[in-house]
Amino acid sequence: MSRITRRDFLKFTGGAGAASTLGMLGISSTAHAAKHGNMGAHVVVVGGGFGGATCAKYLKRAGINVTLIEPSTKFVTCPFSNYVLGGTHKIENITHSYDALRNSGVKVVRDTVTDIDAAGKSVKLKGGKTLKYDRLVVSPGIDFKWDAIKGYSEQASQKMPHAWKAGPQTLLLRKQLENMKDGGTFILVAPPNPFRCPPGPYERASMVAYYLKNHKPKSKVLILDPKDAFSKQGLFQDGWKKLYGNMIEWVPGKAGGKVSAVDTKTMTVTGELDKFKGAVVNVIPAQTAGSIALKAGLANESGFCPVDPKTFESKIHKGIHVIGDSSIAGALPKSGFAANSEAKMCASAIAAMIKGEPIADVSFVNTCYSLIAPNYGISVAGVYRVTEKGIADVPGAGGVSPKEATDTFREEEAKYALGWYASITADTWG
Ligand SMILES: Cc1cc2nc3c(=O)[nH]c(=O)nc-3n(C[C@H](O)[C@H](O)[C@H](O)COP(=O)(O)OP(=O)(O)OC[C@H]3O[C@@H](n4cnc5c(N)ncnc54)[C@H](O)[C@@H]3O)c2cc1C
Repeated sequence: MSRITRRDFLKFTGGAGAASTLGMLGISSTAHAAKHGNMGAHVVVVGGGFGGATCAKYLKRAGINVTLIEPSTKFVTCPFSNYVLGGTHKIENITHSYDALRNSGVKVVRDTVTDIDAAGKSVKLKGGKTLKYDRLVVSPGIDFKWDAIKGYSEQASQKMPHAWKAGPQTLLLRKQLENMKDGGTFILVAPPNPFRCPPGPYERASMVAYYLKNHKPKSKVLILDPKDAFSKQGLFQDGWKKLYGNMIEWVPGKAGGKVSAVDTKTMTVTGELDKFKGAVVNVIPAQTAGSIALKAGLANESGFCPVDPKTFESKIHKGIHVIGDSSIAGALPKSGFAANSEAKMCASAIAAMIKGEPIADVSFVNTCYSLIAPNYGISVAGVYRVTEKGIADVPGAGGVSPKEATDTFREEEAKYALGWYASITADTWG
């Protein structure tokens, strides 16, 4: 892909993508939607993250009566949480309120869904209420397989944080980094596939190294990985060498990187060949769909939820749509951008179903930016469409940043990352 085309593409997906996707959805005006179909239908959305908040917003724009259930008063994004660890951002910079959604007419209920009755079409809330729905959207993100590593548990995450759901865990890990002595080792235990944000662990290692280089330069970052390859690997490794010398070491599965046990008392991590002692240990456990999706029987043996790729309606329970990280979405990665894109397609499909209109053909976009340092950005971008085999890459569309690039090019990509964040969060919660 030529440089001009790629840059134009990134600008499109990062900046104007939201608006053009909306036009494509044909849900641009409430007035239009209100003329058609059963507009008294009620859609309940579970989870106010990237998928759920976007879906609620676009359903409302289509004139549909929508209730969003979310336990938090504000949402802290995982995207850019690695920069809080690196010290370039504060948690407030990545925290978003639900006020704009409320003001647009979405009924936002602060509660947790504890049960889904697929046959009776209702959800039970922790607060005691039961809500009826005509269609349900489930976007609860991920949960962890706590027992996948011996010695690790929810309680152990207070000593060895995962920080894979942003908020208190991010702040805890940041505090541990600040308290770490110069010369210590930061151990990052990477998760097996599939997991949310494929480049995320490696971006985290980069931003931790950025902080350590500037404040504790004798320290090391050790990544213990059960996998033998990772997203944007060559670009990350080139960047690490250039910016941090030998500070970051990656141990792949084939070299004994798979961790079988941790001990929070001794701060040790057991790999296949060695035991390692960390000053700070960040364990990112294996993942599943959000626990409510598992409890509702929406997941298959993979731990994630099979869906119709055109509508995101569950292949297990009709009338329930699963989007975002919890869904099995073919070639689409588990990313905030993908969740936002899926949410719009799902909102469009639900609006069509309610109005009795045909469901439009859909395509999806995703760009994942990663910063190796605040002025050194890299990205991977893709366009996807529904094929007979499910959601697949559109050949020739997207790609990764060039291996050889000037410092200015990397700096520009870092700026695009900031633009992407501003645009996607405004599209989701704004
Ligand atoms: C460190 C890190 C960096 C990342 N960087 C990027 C990036 O740069 N770009 C990118 O595109 N993606 C990135 N991601 C991935 C992105 O965060 C996820 O893919 C995205 O959040 C998925 O959206 P979702 O709606 O599925 O889940 P979430 O955004 O996690 O939202 C789930 C919501 O559901 C709520 N919920 C859960 N259970 C219930 C229940 N029972 N009742 C009610 N509510 C419930 C939760 O409280 C939560 O608010 C990153 C992830 C990590 C960990």
